[in-house]
Amino acid sequence: MSNKLAKIPAMNVLLQGASDQPWFEESTEERIKQFIQEEVDTRRRQLLQGEDVSIEVQDILAGAQQKLAAFNQFSLKAVINATGTVLHTNLGRAPLAKAALDAINEIGMRYNNLEYEIDEGQRGSRYSHMSDVLIELTGAEDALIVNNNAAAVTLMLTALTKGSEVLISRGELVEIGGAFRIPDVIESGGAILKEVGATNKTHLKDFENGINDNTGALLKVHTSNYKILGFASGVSDEDLVTLAHKHHLPAFNDLGSGLLIDLQHLGLSYEPTVSEAIKAGYDLVTFSGDKLLGGPQAGIIVGKKKYINILKKHPLLRALRTDKVTIAALEATFREYLDPEQAIKSIPVLQLIQRTPEQLLPEAEKLRDGLNNLGFDLETEIGEDFSQVGGGSYPAEKIPTIIVAISSPQLNAAGLEKALRLSDAHIITRIRDEKVLFDVRTLMDGDREIIIDTFNTILSKC
Ligand SMILES: *Cc1c(COP(=O)(O)O)cnc(C)c1O
Repeated sequence: MSNKLAKIPAMNVLLQGASDQPWFEESTEERIKQFIQEEVDTRRRQLLQGEDVSIEVQDILAGAQQKLAAFNQFSLKAVINATGTVLHTNLGRAPLAKAALDAINEIGMRYNNLEYEIDEGQRGSRYSHMSDVLIELTGAEDALIVNNNAAAVTLMLTALTKGSEVLISRGELVEIGGAFRIPDVIESGGAILKEVGATNKTHLKDFENGINDNTGALLKVHTSNYKILGFASGVSDEDLVTLAHKHHLPAFNDLGSGLLIDLQHLGLSYEPTVSEAIKAGYDLVTFSGDKLLGGPQAGIIVGKKKYINILKKHPLLRALRTDKVTIAALEATFREYLDPEQAIKSIPVLQLIQRTPEQLLPEAEKLRDGLNNLGFDLETEIGEDFSQVGGGSYPAEKIPTIIVAISSPQLNAAGLEKALRLSDAHIITRIRDEKVLFDVRTLMDGDREIIIDTFNTILSKC
């Protein structure tokens, strides 16, 4: 062993060998040297521990090349979502519409009027860009865009209710995920949380009895990621708003997903839209850009000018502001909604949700046939199942879908799932009953061919 230690090739020899390799051009000499050094150090350590490892130049270089290849991979990369969950928070929520991508291209690569009044030739505000469109779409007096809906709620409560009590129904103390809890947000902004009613039932008189001289606002939080069923009821929007205004208090509504158009004709159950919340009289309504809206990550606040103006002047806004790329994509997404018929065709999230089992079946059959034609005697079975909307929207909704369930005599389900995930295409699937499931709802154009190719690569190696 010590003999081998003494024979580890010198760095200049290894570098010389590397310079003859095609991958030598893929990075700087300095970085390649660093990966070779790491490889040598590992092998030296292993030898010292009594393991027998190769110290051949070609083996050390192969190790360095692997390190380089791993380093050269982007961290954020495209994946194929075969889970059927349309708004998968771990998989980037909403895929963007073409119009949004075109806007990112146009604005991202050029100078733009982010904070410039072209008419006046002077400094402008980044917060004014899509107010007109949002006013048109929601019926609100004004609008403000921030980093995400969590930021929208935080800004709203910090700027408008600091030091006073915020009344909220016990049934709406939502945890959104990632430890974002409404009670914590209220308190982190310096307001005092005052829960009223019971978990399953809150009555108007509970709010009425909760109001005192130190009340700052009434808050409604849409329970977007759970449903309380059975002996349950809440206070209507109209009653809550009327009560707030009778006491000269503002009423706020955190809508979560923020639907701009009613989706019942696409087969989904009723969810309140943003314009309904505005019409009900809420002073401010907040929602996400990358949930059912189908746009980039953003938080949208719409409502009364008098409150939006206060938010626009609050120092916290600077820390929560959005970038030009987000504004470009969001404005393009909103503009699709100016024609709702257009929106349900051009916004990917809405397209994916409305796909029916009848439309999905031929897709599933093409996937099954393509896999069977590879000749690896895979077991492929088409079946009915349910997709989820995801992203904390429509928690109780199960959308009928078509799946292809696959098992292989060469690889067990866990092995297949892992090989698909680690492949160049990064195909994300689910396992059930020792089978790998492909829900065809969330497959995008071109995914099927890539999936079939990937199976071919994986199974050829088994
Ligand atoms: C999702 C959600 C949020 C958080 O929105 P993000 O855009 O993810 O920050 C806040 N409130 C409700 C009710 C939600 O559903």
